[in-house]
Amino acid sequence: MKNDSFLSLLLGNYLLRKAGPTAIARKRQSRLNELVAFARANSPYYRDLYKGLPEQIEDIRQLPVTNKKNLMAHYDDWATDRNVTYAKVHAFIEDPERVGQPFLDKYHLSTTSGSTGNKGIFMLDAETDAVAKALGTSVILSGIGLRRLPAMLSARTALIIATGGHTAGNARFKSGNAGAKPNTEKWKIFSVHLPLPELVSQLNQYQPGILHGYASTILLLANEQEAGRLHISPMMVRLTSEGLTDREYDKIISVFHTNITTYYGSTECGLIAQGCKYHWQHMTSDWVTVEPVDADFQPVAPGVQSHTVLISNLANHVQPILRYDIGDSILMRPDRCPCGDPMPAFQVLGRVADILTFPAQDNTPIQITSLQFSTLFNRIPEILLFQVIQTDPTTLRVRLLIAKEANQDQIWQKAQSEMNNLLRSYKLEHVQVERATEPPEQAMGGKYREVIPLNR
Ligand SMILES: [Zn+2]
Repeated sequence: MKNDSFLSLLLGNYLLRKAGPTAIARKRQSRLNELVAFARANSPYYRDLYKGLPEQIEDIRQLPVTNKKNLMAHYDDWATDRNVTYAKVHAFIEDPERVGQPFLDKYHLSTTSGSTGNKGIFMLDAETDAVAKALGTSVILSGIGLRRLPAMLSARTALIIATGGHTAGNARFKSGNAGAKPNTEKWKIFSVHLPLPELVSQLNQYQPGILHGYASTILLLANEQEAGRLHISPMMVRLTSEGLTDREYDKIISVFHTNITTYYGSTECGLIAQGCKYHWQHMTSDWVTVEPVDADFQPVAPGVQSHTVLISNLANHVQPILRYDIGDSILMRPDRCPCGDPMPAFQVLGRVADILTFPAQDNTPIQITSLQFSTLFNRIPEILLFQVIQTDPTTLRVRLLIAKEANQDQIWQKAQSEMNNLLRSYKLEHVQVERATEPPEQAMGGKYREVIPLNR
């Protein structure tokens, strides 16, 4: 493991993309072999998991699958650094004074609340940070072009993230790792937990040149801008892909008259893919592998929706992530993307945790994804935010945030009839739709989950 400089990583990324898919695949395979050998030599968990496998791995599919539950259960054995123990990590995260400080003076640590409630604690080493920074810079460069780079570099950035604790955004920001220093003239954190009118007023005052946040928050802000309450003109909006529909994507562009860059990543796997202007996510595929699979972890063909996806992060050595079940459903593009990027492209259809399963009348399971609900609610512009909660196998409770000036009852009736149509198209007439009195609620990490299946 060597520490490449930022510039050599940036250049390496550029040259490899120019060299094309075969060179990328070769590079990825050699990084995979090196990481697997490193994990076997230094992580007792992987040594045991890979026992009986040949010394040289020809195909990543030879490796067994892992997940958050297994890694968290073997925490001390999973790390390749024997100084990393759950006891030390736990003491570290319990101390609010240490948010953003490196753990053991070298690792960047962050926690996930986990949409299914099991908390994960992950750390990234310096090499992974350098890789992420170089990839992020490539995206900004390709998004705005060299000509506008000086303006971009002097712009003020508003980061709308979950504040408090060691959540990924907060910890990385405070550590200055995103290239940022806490609340200087150029960067400011805005809590995703602020009431919307307060967030709007603070952003009006700050006038950011770059707006960075969750897709759901940015969408709310686009509504505020459209309603004339928010008045900002960012030159770039950067957001998590989070299953945005094309219509939502176009809305953000038209309201802010600006470039959007999206990305797909997670606390445990780092940066996985970057969005293009055709709304596809392109793998950063020399540093990561993305395998769309079915429920039995068998590969699914391009063009077919996957049940979940297995991620391997080939940069991070301290806690290797190899064939990790991340729980998102994706759709891989069968042909080359018209944007010209040679990297494989996919769309994120939603978290498996955000897919509702209903018993059909003959009891076979029927699934509806969160994207199908967002497409539906998008057709009613007065609905600013929605949340569908499955309270029993055949009951959906619907929380809506409806524009103040709209007739609340009328909009509800519209939404209810659209939902009933959707359910009918799946022959799910026996599923009841209930109106909630409370508005949508944020999860611990600050996201608004659009769909909450039963027992999640
Ligand atoms: Zn593309």
